[in-house]
Amino acid sequence: MTSRTREVTDIINGQATSDGAGVRLYRVIGGPGLPDLDPFLLLDEFVSDDPGDYLAGFPDHPHRGFETVTYMLAGRMRHGDNQGNSGLLEAGSVQWMTAGRGIVHSEMPEQEDGLMWGFQLWVNLPARNKLCPPRYQDIPPHDIPLVPLPGGGRVRVIAGQLGEVAGPVHGIDAEPRYFDVELPADGSLSLPLPDTHTAFVYCYDGSVTIGGDRPTPLERRRLAVLGAGDTLALTAPGAAARALVVAGRPFAEPVARYGPFVMNTREEIMAAIDDLRSGRF
Ligand code: FE
Repeated sequence: MTSRTREVTDIINGQATSDGAGVRLYRVIGGPGLPDLDPFLLLDEFVSDDPGDYLAGFPDHPHRGFETVTYMLAGRMRHGDNQGNSGLLEAGSVQWMTAGRGIVHSEMPEQEDGLMWGFQLWVNLPARNKLCPPRYQDIPPHDIPLVPLPGGGRVRVIAGQLGEVAGPVHGIDAEPRYFDVELPADGSLSLPLPDTHTAFVYCYDGSVTIGGDRPTPLERRRLAVLGAGDTLALTAPGAAARALVVAGRPFAEPVARYGPFVMNTREEIMAAIDDLRSGRF
């Protein structure tokens, strides 16, 4: 069987915006340029060493019907919810939270200065599991395997399989792949990705080139949507670069979305609002 290299079909710029109680961030998926990318509903990058950009945090807010994935590169974030769960997200850690039928939680910086840098990705749930019990996978940095690349660089395997190495996140409906790739100057990577999956590359440091026959450059803070194929070809021409590579199985179901609720119908959104108001989260 011959492999087919995925080419870039679209490039999206992150848009500066703010969310929570006034955290400045870059929204890449979930904004006007790319409202969603089935099964992905949102991708934010927050990066600043100015406390005024992040100190307000994300006080109590609800979620229902999907999963939030927080990956910290630098800084510390305290997490707590209305069901007694709490934890500290430190640099290099991942929290994969399946909100399911609903939680109310807060995500607050646990630092008063210094660099805060990370990502939040929202992954949809299929209709049959939107009201599942909430579940957390809190992954400390040392539980995320680091795969060295032959020509230098490395891949942190957060979810999915890379060769013999499996990421620590499991039991997710979208069968996600979530890789954090670091390439040295002129380094390259060939990465298998299931051809049934939606896939994207988000460059967060330096710039990369993607594709086989038609290599496409991707600058920092831009996202490349990948076309069909089973292999990603990534290079870092001239200078070191870092990028997230993420893939997931699309659900092809209707999306009804209202703020922190993502369901399939407007009636289910109304029910979520009613349940929240009546204290049923
Ligand atoms: Fe949240």
